[in-house]
Amino acid sequence: MDKRVIPLLDVRQAPQALRARVPAHTVAPTGLLLDRLGRPLTDLRISVTDRFNFRCSYCMPKEVFDKDYPYLPHRDLLSFEEITRVARLFAAHGVRKLRLTGGEPLLRKNIENLVEQLAQLRTVDGQPLDLTLTTNGSLLARKAQALKAAGLQRVTVSLDGLDDAVFRRMNDVDFPVERVLEGLAAAREAGLGPIKVNMVVKRGTNEHEILPMARYFRGSGVVLRFIEYMDVGATNGWRMDEVLPSADVVRRIDQEFPLVPLEATAPGETAQRWAYADADGRPDPALGEIGVISSVTQAFCHDCSRARLSTEGQLYLCLFASGGHDLRPLLREGASDADIASAIGHIWQGRADRYSELRSERGPDSAAAPGARRVEMSYIGG
Ligand code: SAM
Ligand code: SF4
Repeated sequence: MDKRVIPLLDVRQAPQALRARVPAHTVAPTGLLLDRLGRPLTDLRISVTDRFNFRCSYCMPKEVFDKDYPYLPHRDLLSFEEITRVARLFAAHGVRKLRLTGGEPLLRKNIENLVEQLAQLRTVDGQPLDLTLTTNGSLLARKAQALKAAGLQRVTVSLDGLDDAVFRRMNDVDFPVERVLEGLAAAREAGLGPIKVNMVVKRGTNEHEILPMARYFRGSGVVLRFIEYMDVGATNGWRMDEVLPSADVVRRIDQEFPLVPLEATAPGETAQRWAYADADGRPDPALGEIGVISSVTQAFCHDCSRARLSTEGQLYLCLFASGGHDLRPLLREGASDADIASAIGHIWQGRADRYSELRSERGPDSAAAPGARRVEMSYIGG
């Protein structure tokens, strides 16, 4: 068959199961898709593997994710072609930014081939999509050049401290911090910037690493971002008293290096930005900036424009959702692009999630009810 011909399927003659999944009323992509709270869909996070080589206690504690943990068999993962097809349909609905995540995304074999395919996609106004990846950095030294050559624009590296003993304890697989720093250097050399470094701050565990991290990255061109420890999933034993509010992080850094607030660069931006100040109290571009992501103490659901696609094709509308919408049967049972785009449209139009805001309204100490089934961060990648 000529490869350019996309096989079309008339839903009226489709198998029963597929008909049930494709709503009769069509939502054609227009480049602007709003949910029930008027939030546009602009950002898609794609988890490419459920495998991990770290066992960070706040995300994949060893006690739960041990050697007997049943990872998904390869046939259940979306193929690169399936991921690219879905991403193209999201772009038609207005998505401008793709972030690859996981699990540890660099553990997915030949990930650069997926990057190459995604780099060909265009936004509704014909621009390349903003294409980035979040990694723990362990394999970055080896992969940075190939990722850049394939079309990746930027990376975000997770790093919870510079002290080797603290870092080894947090990743819980005795991985040395030096190797992540080598990965960062390789990413910089490859031109995968501006690089962001994400540090999850856990009170009593790595809060003493805040200032060493600020000193190390100030003036380096890397944007350091501090993330409040979140109550995602149901395995990390989250407690409010282990959350260090971002306001404290800013105060601690400001005492040593005065900071000035910066405007958000885009609506829906998760981080609040602060610049290092010069002697006149103005932002000093040579010293750079930090960001704080205050998902616990200052919810930002009102302009949340992110959807998340799991490794095996479940679409999640919120980091705290208990269930996803399964797109894989549509992909594997012959649905047309129009049907899949329409299904995505219906799902987003029905969205009203605002978990973090509701938690704030219930009070800062409240998390999900004990035993509530919630998706793990390690499954949809943050
Ligand atoms: N393996 C990659 C990595 O480590 O960057 C990508 C997946 S990881 C789930 C994505 C991000 O979520 C990391 O920056 C990690 O630190 C963050 N994360 C995981 N659990 C978290 C939690 N409970 N609270 C805040 N951030 C969390
Ligand atoms: Fe978005 Fe859900 Fe987070 Fe609110 S809680 S910002 S809706 S992912």
